[in-house]
Amino acid sequence: MNPDPQSENARRPDRKSPMKAAVFEQFQMPLQVREVPVPDPRPDSAVIAVRACGLCRSDWHGWMGHDSDVHLPHVPGHELAGEIVAVGSRVNLWQTGSRVTVPFCCGCGSCLQCATGNQHICDHYTQPGFTQWGAFAEYVEIRHADVNLVKLPESVDFATAASLGCRFATSFRGVVFQGRTQPGDWIAVHGCGGVGLSAVMIAAALGAQVIAIDVKPDRLEMAARCGARHVINASTTDVVSAIRELSFGGCHVSVDALGSKQTCWNSVKSLRKRGRHVQIGLMLGSDADPPVPMGTVIANELEILGSHGMQAFEYGRMLAMIESGAINPAMLISDRVTLSEAALLLPEMNQFPGTGVTVIDRFV
Ligand SMILES: [Zn+2]
Ligand SMILES: [Zn+2]
Repeated sequence: MNPDPQSENARRPDRKSPMKAAVFEQFQMPLQVREVPVPDPRPDSAVIAVRACGLCRSDWHGWMGHDSDVHLPHVPGHELAGEIVAVGSRVNLWQTGSRVTVPFCCGCGSCLQCATGNQHICDHYTQPGFTQWGAFAEYVEIRHADVNLVKLPESVDFATAASLGCRFATSFRGVVFQGRTQPGDWIAVHGCGGVGLSAVMIAAALGAQVIAIDVKPDRLEMAARCGARHVINASTTDVVSAIRELSFGGCHVSVDALGSKQTCWNSVKSLRKRGRHVQIGLMLGSDADPPVPMGTVIANELEILGSHGMQAFEYGRMLAMIESGAINPAMLISDRVTLSEAALLLPEMNQFPGTGVTVIDRFV
């Protein structure tokens, strides 16, 4: 039901009044925090007052010019949470004042993929921060609000919700729905950055036995804190034979959370018969087309699966696990910064790929 128009108008930001946003005019040039118009909702859209937004390497790729969806000038930011301040005339399910988050890949609600419940791979997707201006701003427009908004429980704060972003939600889908991880299963997680640590935490919460692999001791320590039963330093150990020994012949599920030729190969080779490889780490540059041991895939009847985001309607299970304390994504938040600090940090992201998630929580 639409809200009373008078109260809606009372909460609606004055679209003539400006908002702060971090804008880049050219690829690979500094972002500037400046005043731009507040977005006005299209009929199917909601406008969200952004309360928190994650910084992600995908934002850096957009700024570099690696993403053909990005057109200049541009505002990045796709890992957001906030409050609805305006809804369009055709939005039926949402009202102003609701606390919400949104998947990084939003569905159109009417294509074949959306009609079959796969809004995260919509044929006509929209992505704030890529196909449109994003949430490095005080306000952001979300298209097809009825399809894409997710209500936040009161106990989940905005920074935690923003940190679910693309990494945690994609890991959740990868481990839970694509990997079909069961209690007691052995699962290997190759690469312990934001995606990998999320996968470790989720798999451990499901009761799986997690083996975490990385080359950095501090990341392996963090993986152990997130619930890994065993950790393997890939710089000093033969990864595949170590996993096969620890898991009594290979894992049920293996996740490549990094996205390299080596980690992809190791992940497939560390599976037991009829195991499932889940590719979550993006394959970029010289790793874009990795060799895969297809002979092993055939002989052992392995499954090769991808994971790309998660539909809004599937967020309930993840949020319930956060509310119950089974998973604690806030553990992965390492820094809270202002919008101005984020504008300076984004171009540096490739030089300092930290373990934790950085979240904007003040828009000054
Ligand atoms: Zn669609
Ligand atoms: Zn992201």
